[in-house]
Order: sequence, then C-alpha cells, then structure tokens
Amino acid sequence: MILDSFRLDGQVAVVTGARRGLGQGAALALAEAGADVVLVNRGDGSETAAQIEALGRRVHSIEIDFATADHDDYVSVIDEGVDALGRIDILVNNAGTIKRVPAVDHPTEDWEEVLAVNLDSVFHLSQAAGRRMIDQGSGRIINVASMLSFQGGILVPGYTASKHAVAGLTKAFANEWAASGVTVNAIAPGYMATDNTEALRADPDRSQAILSRIPAGRWGTPADLGGAFVFLASDAAAYVTGTIIPVDGGWLVR
Ligand code: NAP
Repeated sequence: MILDSFRLDGQVAVVTGARRGLGQGAALALAEAGADVVLVNRGDGSETAAQIEALGRRVHSIEIDFATADHDDYVSVIDEGVDALGRIDILVNNAGTIKRVPAVDHPTEDWEEVLAVNLDSVFHLSQAAGRRMIDQGSGRIINVASMLSFQGGILVPGYTASKHAVAGLTKAFANEWAASGVTVNAIAPGYMATDNTEALRADPDRSQAILSRIPAGRWGTPADLGGAFVFLASDAAAYVTGTIIPVDGGWLVR
C-alpha cells in the first residue's frame, strides 16, 4: 500500500546539527517514521536523543566541530555510526552556520568557517556515506539548501556561496550515484523560525519586509519540513534524485 512505502522501519539515519532547529525536526520526523538515528552534533545532543528514545527508536550521539574537521574525521563519523547502529541508509546534511557582515568587510575567517561547515562537511560526509550506500545498492542523501541556493541574499556572501554550492553538489552526486540506487536531493527551506534567523526576526524592519513577502503569511517551523524529509528518505521517492525541493510557504514563486 502506498503509505507503507513512506515507512522507514529498520533503517538508520545519520543527521548532522540535530541538537536544535531544523536538524532536530528532521531527526524526530525520521524517527517517527521508524528510523533509528545517529545524531552528529557540535555539542551535547542529549535532549534530541531522549525524544528519539521516547519514540522507541535507537539513538547514538557523536560530537564533532565541522569548523576544524578534516576528511578522516568525517570518515570516522560514518564508521562510528555504522558500528553503533549497524548500517547507514539515510544521511541528512543539515548542520550550517551563517555570518552576517557586509561583503566589503566580510572577514576571511568568516568566509572560511562558513564554507567549511556548510559545504566541506557535505562533500566529505556524502562521500564517506555514499561509498557504503553504493556497496549496499541503496541509500538516501538529503542536503539542506536554502532560498540562498537561488538568490543572492544580503550581508551573507559566504552563506550564499555555500548554499549555491550545496545545490550543485546535490546534482553532481545524484548523477553519479543514481544507477547504484543512491538518491541525492536537497530541501530548500524558506524563512524558518530558528536560531539561524533570530537576528532577522529581532529586526522589526527586516522581519516585516520578509513576512510581507511570504505568501503563506508566517515564518516556517521545523515541523513544516518533516514530510519532505520523510518522503525523500523513503521508498516512495526512489525515482526522485538531483532535485532541490523548496519548502518555503511560496517565497520563491512570489
Ligand atoms: P540553527 O538552529 O542555528 O542550527 C544550526 C545547526 O548546525 C545546529 O545544530 C548547530 O550545532 C550546527 N552547527 C553549526 N555550526 C557547526 C559546527 N561548526 N560544527 C557542527 N555543527 C554545527 O539553524 P537552523 O535553521 O536549524 O539551520 C539548519 C540548516 O538549515 C542550516 O544548514 C541552515 O543554513 C539551513 N537553513 C535554515 C533556514 C532558516 O530560515 N532557519 C533557511 C534555509 C536553510 P550546535 O547546536 O551545536 O550549535
């Protein structure tokens, strides 16, 4: 039956940046659909872990800072996740950071940190997970893109460059791995109420300008993305690959 093809029972998902915000929402949605979850966090992920265990799923937490990680660190993350929970079926590359400084003064260290966290992690984790998925003949990689995978943004050149690159990497990996049963897609969230957008929501002018441009008339929430994560992770999306799906309350079509 069609609804059964959305279930993730017995599968293992690795989710980065799952301590809070959209990553926490993704981890909980995948667990609700049946998946056990490896949480990859910079800090203590015990709150998300407790919520997943309460759903009756297995959970394993790994701590790592993507700003300083290298290729071998990322391979170790995937190896540890597989050792702990037995396999990897789904990788959600969600962790991300943003630095708001005008382009003319944008510090090199901000540029490098944003690219390391938002882009390098996606390349290295996808490569490490993808090798295992290709060997097993199945896998799902879901990247978190952005409206700034399509638009230029203001004050955030590194973030915009990284999210355009995430969209490109999604298509590049999708092309190479589709025949191996591994799909690679991205979700492009609109303007969501998380810590990432706290500065925007705290600025009455920017907040009003953004809100008035969202056809849905409200900021999104982590729960708004749950259906898209589960769909792309499931058998129902077996023939969907290389797409960047906006979940944006209509922002892009305005
Ligand atoms: P958030 O609440 O700020 O969460 C960001 C997550 O990334 C946190 O879990 C954070 O870990 C993790 N992270 C940041 N720097 C890290 C590092 N150096 N090493 C490892 N993990 C790191 O923001 P969010 O809105 O949920 O963002 C999640 C993703 O959605 C990001 O890729 C973001 O670009 C994207 N996005 C967000 C929006 C939006 O409107 N909110 C829109 C489009 C795309 P800690 O909790 O340990 O700090």
